[in-house]
Amino acid sequence: MSPMKVGIIGAGATGLAAAYTLVKAGHEATVYEGDPFVGGQASTFDVGGARLEKGYHHLFTSDRDMVDLIHELGLGPKLAWIESKVGIFHGGKIYNFVSPTDLLRFTPLSPVDRLRMGLAILYLQRYKEWQKLERFTAAEWIRKYAGKGAYDVVWGPLLRGKFGAYYDKVGMPWFWGKIHTRFASRGKGMQKERLGYPMGSFAEVFETLAERIVERGGEVNLSTPVRAITVEEGRATGLEARSAWGSTILRPFDAVLATTPSYVLPRLVSGLPQDYLEKLQGVKYLAAVLMVLVLKEPLSRLYWLNIADRSIPFVGLIEHTNYIESSHYGGKHILYISNYLGEDSPLFHMKDSQLLEEYIPHLKKVNPRFDPSWIEEWYYHRVEAAQPIAGANYSQHIPDHRTPVKGLYLANTTQIYPEDRGTSYSVRMGKRLAGMMMEDLG
Ligand SMILES: Cc1cc2nc3c(=O)[nH]c(=O)nc-3n(C[C@H](O)[C@H](O)[C@H](O)COP(=O)(O)OP(=O)(O)OC[C@H]3O[C@@H](n4cnc5c(N)ncnc54)[C@H](O)[C@@H]3O)c2cc1C
Repeated sequence: MSPMKVGIIGAGATGLAAAYTLVKAGHEATVYEGDPFVGGQASTFDVGGARLEKGYHHLFTSDRDMVDLIHELGLGPKLAWIESKVGIFHGGKIYNFVSPTDLLRFTPLSPVDRLRMGLAILYLQRYKEWQKLERFTAAEWIRKYAGKGAYDVVWGPLLRGKFGAYYDKVGMPWFWGKIHTRFASRGKGMQKERLGYPMGSFAEVFETLAERIVERGGEVNLSTPVRAITVEEGRATGLEARSAWGSTILRPFDAVLATTPSYVLPRLVSGLPQDYLEKLQGVKYLAAVLMVLVLKEPLSRLYWLNIADRSIPFVGLIEHTNYIESSHYGGKHILYISNYLGEDSPLFHMKDSQLLEEYIPHLKKVNPRFDPSWIEEWYYHRVEAAQPIAGANYSQHIPDHRTPVKGLYLANTTQIYPEDRGTSYSVRMGKRLAGMMMEDLG
């Protein structure tokens, strides 16, 4: 069999995993990335003399595809597994929220509500037939089975924080998936949760992956946005891209894989049939809006603090240096203030400095000692199309990987289901798509 030539749009986890699988099998993979760096949503910026993800990243022990990849790339010794410290902020207080004992001590809920919530969590951990949960939204199911108390105090505010106007639209499999992955990441006795971090950053993993692709004869072209997918007689025949120097690149390919958000695909290729277009345009995304503060002192003792209080304008405080030691970042304390926002939110439209002003008074609620003078530096990142919204019966709305244009494939986070997006699922999907293309063209 002669090697097939595949053009790949996007050098995130999906595109690079697909390219790597193809070149390992002896095929030719050419990746085009619009940004000047690889890693997409898992890319980094420099802080405290080290690299840090623009949006917090870690791995669960269940993230096998990513863990295996890290080992295969020879980066295994750099993968640290560290006990997580997770809490919830409610009624002006921080509560630990990791173990069953923490739930028993969660006094904002009555003992009956605590028991009910604990039983619902236990049930979901063991329940395997997520398809049967598809007809429920998460809000409906939680109210009905975990109880109104658990919904009003814990999950409701978190759903509102994470999904904004879509809080009551998110399908139950999303919630089921969250409970499963978190509990799969625990040791015996379910007391301890360990989270994995590639010391040196996720970007280092994806850069090493790109190097291995190139070593095996593949290409990874940065700052090279794809402008169009060429189609002849209903078949994808190549790509048109703009090079880093502004010239037009036209390359023929046997197959094309797009790893862009769904709404980008119709801009690159015309003539997609209406039912496929509806699936691409029907999925709503939220942007991740992240304010990263470099502080003189730690804000809290926790890594991950869920904010179950909707008078506070953010949904999570992720204090990276309560997970990875601050010595790796020149002794600085690093805090992400996290939000997922749609255009309907006024916060989405705020200028970075305005948003910081909006957030600052609320940090004092979490730690009354906090003073704005603690802020030494701050950074603002916005990751577009960060969180797709999977509503009830979502499986019927997922666009196929094989698009109606022959030889054109789509792989993005809207097709990861019932799990929520994550680098490991993207790597798994990239590998699967490479296999699909080899099967179709082989
Ligand atoms: C805030 C946040 C926190 C997260 N936390 C975690 C975590 O803790 N653990 C975890 O495993 N995952 C986490 N994720 C999810 C993870 O980062 C993503 O699921 C994964 O990186 C998606 O990879 P992808 O390749 O599918 O998409 P992307 O990373 O979006 O890659 C797509 C690439 O395509 C490029 N592109 C788009 N259009 C074009 C074009 N026309 N031409 C050329 N290139 C183009 C983009 O620039 C981009 O680089 C998080 C994500 C966010 C936003």
